[in-house]
Amino acid sequence: MKRIAIVAARAQSEHGELDKLARFYPQAVARAGGIPLVLPSCHADPQHYAGLYDALVLTGCEADIAPQSYGEPLSNARYCDPERDAWEIAMYHQAKQAAVPILGICRGMQLINVAEGGTLHQDIADMSDLEHWEFARHTEHIHQVVIESSRILTDGEYAVNSIHHQAVERLGAELVVTGTAADGMIELIEHHQLPIIGTQWHPERLIDDTLSQELFRWLTRS
Ligand code: MN
Repeated sequence: MKRIAIVAARAQSEHGELDKLARFYPQAVARAGGIPLVLPSCHADPQHYAGLYDALVLTGCEADIAPQSYGEPLSNARYCDPERDAWEIAMYHQAKQAAVPILGICRGMQLINVAEGGTLHQDIADMSDLEHWEFARHTEHIHQVVIESSRILTDGEYAVNSIHHQAVERLGAELVVTGTAADGMIELIEHHQLPIIGTQWHPERLIDDTLSQELFRWLTRS
């Protein structure tokens, strides 16, 4: 069985800082036949984790990637944590160098793009008639995504959830867009060669969908 490392998010509580992880992530990994391992966000040297896991999941979070992490001034990004960005980008490069499969979900997808030199729209609220921020309906199907020329998922049109207020702007150098929403928003990216994929939606919250199962099976078996 493959060991799937899932990065927890740093969060504040009344008793101090916490590492937190929505249980959807480890549940989806376990259901696909993998062993979920939670990595704390304590910024240890990514090299120390080499060999301890077979695939890496970069997770979603309320905390937007700090615009300084992709060289732009702050406009509409919120709850930024540049230290977390830097550590996750280092984890990404460590896993990429080891040719370990990487799945980025929501913020995790955006992080893959930034790690590859891309940029983000800091807020898409005024960019589309489609509603992409549907947090209260996080386990519902909100809009369609057309997947085309994917190396990992079966091409087609799928309904997905949507809990994001940012999106990929300029694509990172080694990435290709393999899924878009009807408004042109980038919803799926992949590395052109390596086993790296990012979804702007949250497949771990739609685990009965064939698309989610295909994705997590790929993660736990490739
Ligand atoms: Mn969306």
